[in-house]
Amino acid sequence: MNEELDNAIENKKSLNFVEQAVEKDLSEGKNNGRIQTRFPPEPNGYLHIGHAKAICLDFGIAERYNGVCNLRFDDTNPVKEDVEYVDAIRNDIEWLGFHWGNIYYASDYFDKLYAFAVRLIREGHAYIDEQSAETIASQKGTPTTPGTDSPFRSRPAEESLDLFRRMNEGEFEEGAMTLRAKIDMASSNMHFRDPIIYRIIKHPHHRTGNKWNVYPMYDFAHGQSDYFEGVTHSICTLEFEVHRPLYDYFIDLLKESDDYRPRQIEFNRLNLTYTMMSKRKLLQLVKEGFVSGWDDPRMPTICGYRRRGYTPQSIRNFIDKIGYTKYDGIIDVALLEHAVREDLNAHATRVSAVINPIKLIITNYPEGKTEEMTAVNNPEQPEEGSHTITFSRELYIEQDDFMEDAPKKYFRMTPGQEVRLKSAYIIKCTGCKKDENGKVVEVYAEYDDQTLSGMPESNRKVKGTIHWVSTQHSIPAEVRLYDRLFMDENPSEVKDKSLEELLNPDSLQVLTHCRVEPFLANAQTGDHFQFQRIGYFTVDPDSKPDNLVFNRTVSLKDAWKKANK
Ligand code: ATP
Ligand code: MG
Repeated sequence: MNEELDNAIENKKSLNFVEQAVEKDLSEGKNNGRIQTRFPPEPNGYLHIGHAKAICLDFGIAERYNGVCNLRFDDTNPVKEDVEYVDAIRNDIEWLGFHWGNIYYASDYFDKLYAFAVRLIREGHAYIDEQSAETIASQKGTPTTPGTDSPFRSRPAEESLDLFRRMNEGEFEEGAMTLRAKIDMASSNMHFRDPIIYRIIKHPHHRTGNKWNVYPMYDFAHGQSDYFEGVTHSICTLEFEVHRPLYDYFIDLLKESDDYRPRQIEFNRLNLTYTMMSKRKLLQLVKEGFVSGWDDPRMPTICGYRRRGYTPQSIRNFIDKIGYTKYDGIIDVALLEHAVREDLNAHATRVSAVINPIKLIITNYPEGKTEEMTAVNNPEQPEEGSHTITFSRELYIEQDDFMEDAPKKYFRMTPGQEVRLKSAYIIKCTGCKKDENGKVVEVYAEYDDQTLSGMPESNRKVKGTIHWVSTQHSIPAEVRLYDRLFMDENPSEVKDKSLEELLNPDSLQVLTHCRVEPFLANAQTGDHFQFQRIGYFTVDPDSKPDNLVFNRTVSLKDAWKKANK
């Protein structure tokens, strides 16, 4: 797969703006020509497709310029973090096909960061503020009016040093005081107005246990971690653009020589229609039971997409198509589905499955007779060959492939009309049987025995082709059909509705009486199939040999292609 990515990158006509910036740095001999990036997830949830966009860029830049990309867990808030997430993140990155150099943790630097904070206090760049976070926020001012100095701003360094030590020893309660950088309460950049850089958290950390009672804030951990590791290009999303001056400010205080400094570059985050991406919201969906878990196939998580049957290549192709810019926007989820369809069209094995069965009897076909019909595995890949599917007198077809009183343009089964049975004969519908409520329970037809592929009548023009399985030679299956989880095009922007009110009540439909060809009996979790005329499907992990379960990955109809012809 990396080869495929390499080729895609080679063939790309123009560089994206991050690649351009990297090439400029290289041409100027910055950092001795060394390229090092990192992907820095906070282990407070599972990765979603937005993260995949960051991953493709962080790892892609390193691969392209013979550099290294490290995985760094930004584990500075023990309250929300867990090893469960660490393991899942590693697994998802590998599944996407990327390889990190090293794994680091921000918590590896807690000693160094603490020492740096002590140095800042000593040098007059930081102080302990005993005001509450709310009071501090209320003194921040606005972008056009300066903030108000804290009454603790000019306390002696010795006092702050003593309090900082005691904070970390656990003497004070959470919220009692914070360490703030002493920068500029009138700066036009709000992040410079004495930002909080350490707070008290009394919660065991998944790696450092109870060693620490103070934890650094993002702005005091991220850039420094980049510096400690030797990151050259710290690529992140646009909301961090306003943090960049502070990132540079701390690096300037920290750096020991002018030979090396990390550089932050921002790109637009991925937003998708009908999708919520924030980990906080995704956690809420899981915790409140609106989905079955982080890997529910309706979730925009990497593990959700995997379970739904998306391939790593389809996700990477999608990311490649949307590219990287400096403007936030929202991408049509149909484009992602298009990429999935494109990849599965090339790779999925074609099979027959009837998901809403009704019985069809071929009245002039001999009872007890069977024939093995040839079913091509993938017309896109002739070398994948074929398998056989058993034909018999009694078949199942889809309920909606029969209509007693059909409109003119209905080319499927209706009395008097001919259709082709996929890979088999042309048949003519002769009628149906109904129960006492008028519901159709059986459909009848006669076949023309000269219409198999290669026979004299095989090329006779019929307008419709329908799929089928033999009643006796098919096996039962459960099929799960998924639709978008949210009804609103941009659910994150809807302010007056609860999460529950935003959900699509029909996002999951479970069909338990489906019939599939026996070829699927040994299908394994993660295998990809096209159920002919219906869509792409994969085997769910819930599937068992005596109770097959298939997830619909994506339907066949391409809304994106249609809209963009
Ligand atoms: P969320 O806001 O969804 O909770 P986050 O930004 O808090 O995500 P992190 O674990 O901190 O999640 O993110 C790791 C990296 O992934 C960061 O560099 C971040 O910029 C990037 N990232 C997160 N969400 C997106 C997105 N939607 N599009 C592109 N990159 C993203
Ligand atoms: Mg974050």
